[in-house]
Amino acid sequence: MGRVRFQLAIIALFVVASVVAAGERGADPPVLIPAPKTVTWIQRDLVLRGSAKIVLPEKASPDVWAAANGLARAIQDAAGKKIAIVRGRVEKERAGSFVLRPGFKDAELGSEGYDLSVDRGVVLQAADGRGLFYAAQTLRQLLHKGNRVTLAGCNIRDWPSWPYRGLQIDPARNYMTPAFLKQQIDFISAYKLNHLHLHLTDDQGWRLEIKAYPNLASENKYTQAEMKDLIAYARERFVTIVPEMDMPGHPKEFGRKFPDLYHNDCMCIGNEKTYQVVEQIWKEAAEVFDSPYMHVGGDETNDVLECSVCRAKWEEVGKEPNPPGSLVAYFLARVNEIIKAQGKQAIAWTQDNRHWKGTLPKDMIMMAWTTPAVDCARQGYQVINAYVRPLYFDGGHGIPAFLKWRTNDGVSEPLPTLMGAEAQVWYGYGEKPFVEEEFYRDEGYFPRLLVFADRVWGPPPGDPYADPTVFDRRALDHKARFFSGYPFPYPPKSLDPNAPFPW
Ligand SMILES: [Zn+2]
Repeated sequence: MGRVRFQLAIIALFVVASVVAAGERGADPPVLIPAPKTVTWIQRDLVLRGSAKIVLPEKASPDVWAAANGLARAIQDAAGKKIAIVRGRVEKERAGSFVLRPGFKDAELGSEGYDLSVDRGVVLQAADGRGLFYAAQTLRQLLHKGNRVTLAGCNIRDWPSWPYRGLQIDPARNYMTPAFLKQQIDFISAYKLNHLHLHLTDDQGWRLEIKAYPNLASENKYTQAEMKDLIAYARERFVTIVPEMDMPGHPKEFGRKFPDLYHNDCMCIGNEKTYQVVEQIWKEAAEVFDSPYMHVGGDETNDVLECSVCRAKWEEVGKEPNPPGSLVAYFLARVNEIIKAQGKQAIAWTQDNRHWKGTLPKDMIMMAWTTPAVDCARQGYQVINAYVRPLYFDGGHGIPAFLKWRTNDGVSEPLPTLMGAEAQVWYGYGEKPFVEEEFYRDEGYFPRLLVFADRVWGPPPGDPYADPTVFDRRALDHKARFFSGYPFPYPPKSLDPNAPFPW
C-alpha cells in the first residue's frame, strides 16, 4: 500500500526519532476507518523509537503470533524498518513498546473487539489473536509519517456490530492471479472485513481444480495447492475464504465438460449422476477450504421440463402444485444435505423472492441480493445482506447511498439471524478482459470498500460520520495516506447531489 516510495526517507527519520522523547500533538487526530465505537484522544503522541519491540506472552498461541506479525507489517509499512517480536512478561506497560495481552475478558468487546491504549507504551488487549489483529490494524492508521514516526495517544474500545463482514470477487468470469487475490486480502483485512467470497465457477470458467475430474477445471485455474496457500495467507489475516461453486445455473463450463449432465443453461437436475458429481466436488472443496460456509449459488435458473429426465424427477418430487423453481429448490435441498454431511453449512443466493420463500431448508444461509435481508430474517433464515442497492459496486450508487445504508436495513426490531453484510464486485460480467487498473477504477473499488467497511463494522453512537461531507474528508485522508499509486476515483462530489455516476 504505497510503502516503497517512503521507505528510504522514513529509515532516516526513524534514526532521528529514536533519540526524541514524546512530543506534543500538532495536528488533528488521525482518521480511523472504520470508526471505532469509542475513542478518547490523549494530547500527546508516542514517538516510535528504534528500540521498540512487540512483546507477547511466553505461551502465545498461533493466532496471537498472527496478530503480532500483522502489527510488525503495519509498523514496517510506516517506518520502513523491521521491528522485533519477543516473548516476555506482558502484565505491565513497557515504555515505547507494543504489548499484546490475549485472554482479556470483556463481554462488551465480544470475540473480535479490542481495547487499545497508546500512552508511554502501547497495550493491545483482546480475547485472542483476532481482536489483537484488529487493534493492530487500528494502530496502522494511528501511525503518522511526519518528521518523525509517531502514534497518536489514545484509549480505544472497539468492537464490530456484525460478525460477517464480507467482500465478493468474481475470478470465474475473469481469472485473477493468486497474487492479486492476496493483495485484496491485505486491503480488506486492513479495514477489518473478515470474509472473502470467491465466485469460482460460471459460464466462462471453472477455476478450482477437482482431482476426481481433472478435465473439469479451465486452463486458468487454482490448483488445490495454490488455493490452500491462499487460504493460509487469509487465515494469517483473520479472513475466511468462502468458496462459491454456482449450481445448477451458470453452468456452461460444467456443460462443456459434462455434456450429458447439462442442457438449457442448467445442470440436468433430474439425473442422479449429476448428484454424484456434485457430491464429489463438494467433498473435495470441504477438504480444501477451512470455511464453515460453502456457497452453492443457486439463483438465475429454472426447471427445464422439456428434458424428459428432469420432467420425470419433477413429477416424482415436485410439490403440488409444482410451482416454478420447485425442482431447483429440490436440487438445492439435496446439495444442502451433501454439504452438511461434510460438516459445513450451505449459503445460497436469493432468487426473486421465490424459491427460497419457505421452500429451501431453514438451515441454509440466504445471501439476500434480490430481496431485503430483513425479509429473510423474518422468515427465520440466517441471512447475509448483499442487497443490490447499494452493495453491488457496479450499481452506480454513490457514497451518500452507502452512508444512509444499514446492515439491518434500518429496522429497529431485533434480527438475531442477520449475520452481517457482503459487498459485491463483479467486474464486467466477463464481457471485457481483466485489467487490474480498471478493476480498481471502473467501479470505484476505492473508496467504496472503505465506506462499506465503515458501515458494516457499525458506526459509533450517534453516527457522526453519516454526513457525506465528513466522509469526504475521511476518504481523502486515506487516499493520500494509504492508496498512492492506486486508482482511487474520489473527487469530493458527495457534496453535490447532482454529481454524475459514479460519484
Ligand atoms: Zn434434465
